[in-house]
Amino acid sequence: MSQYVWGYLREYEDERDDILAAVDGVFRSGKLVLGPSVAAFEEEFAARHGVGHGVGVDNGTNALVLALRALGVRPGDEVITVSNTAAPTVVAIDLVGATPVFVDVHEDDYLMDVAQVEAAITERTTCLLPVHLYGQCVDMAPLRELSEKYGIPILEDCAQAHDARHHGEIAGSMGQAAAFSFYPTKVLGAYGDGGAVITPSAEIAADLRRLRYYGMRDVYHVVQTPGHNSRLDEVQAEILRRKLRRLDGYVARRQAIAARYAEALADTDLVLPKVAEGNTHVYYVHVVRHPRRDAILEKLKEHDVFLNISYPWPVHRQQGFLRLGWAEGSLPVTERLAGEIFSLPMYPSLSEAEQDKFIDILRDVLATT
Ligand SMILES: *Cc1c(COP(=O)(O)O)cnc(C)c1O
Repeated sequence: MSQYVWGYLREYEDERDDILAAVDGVFRSGKLVLGPSVAAFEEEFAARHGVGHGVGVDNGTNALVLALRALGVRPGDEVITVSNTAAPTVVAIDLVGATPVFVDVHEDDYLMDVAQVEAAITERTTCLLPVHLYGQCVDMAPLRELSEKYGIPILEDCAQAHDARHHGEIAGSMGQAAAFSFYPTKVLGAYGDGGAVITPSAEIAADLRRLRYYGMRDVYHVVQTPGHNSRLDEVQAEILRRKLRRLDGYVARRQAIAARYAEALADTDLVLPKVAEGNTHVYYVHVVRHPRRDAILEKLKEHDVFLNISYPWPVHRQQGFLRLGWAEGSLPVTERLAGEIFSLPMYPSLSEAEQDKFIDILRDVLATT
């Protein structure tokens, strides 16, 4: 069984009454799409981020697509981001017809190397898209300086960083818009697909509301193209409202699991996650690094332990994106990392006994590989 299945099934057993009450309430309400639960969730989610507006959408990829469109990114434009990310970050840029322009990542925290961004800006750059990868934030101060200097908006990809903090600010509150995914494994996950965009701008929010609804101003009038159908449904919104109230607890569990790994693995040659200065990490994934990664993963399989890699193939070297022309070696840190990183089990319902058992196996494998 995959970690994903365990994680969600245990949570469901713990929270079943609340989840079923949410579903039943929506089914009995007579309103299944864009009703009161979506509106309430949007308000509560935006408020948690201290940002004026929230717009629920159908998934994180479309949150990025609609946000890019609402920020004015048009076909032929360039969007600066990283290749060490989940593919959908780049898929979204591609979907709006813009060209992803990659900068490399830091060797120590695996996040966007913001010092490389200025050199990547051209007259066609219309958006900076930092990815708060694995659960901690990109160094935002220098990025915001560039954003102001060149008048280019920032869209934060927060799909892995619900509730992450950066010098006291919360992920999603530091740009012109932020996109979230509520895919079930995420730090705040729905029971199906879901996503949201938050933004301080009433104008961008109004744009997003039209874009997710065929480009319509009201039921009869298309005022914007291309429109989408990218609505968040009531059931997922109501479940998310309830889970949002438990988000502190989910994050605390993830941090406690990370602290136990840090203690139990400190004396091994595994490179543990480095939390950048000013960051509070929420550990969507617990990424570690080792030069003999593949041998370690093979050995672990003999113990029935199957670990994930986030991500084994950098996006710029994937078949579908080779047409962008990023040669092997063009992003050396990203490419090196891809061969050395892997993820330790991390989900709130992982018990201490299970974690201890896993740690024993891992220590054994590390000592003999
Ligand atoms: C999950 C994820 C997305 C896409 O979200 P979906 O809801 O799966 O479409 C985008 N960016 C990052 C960094 C992600 O981890």
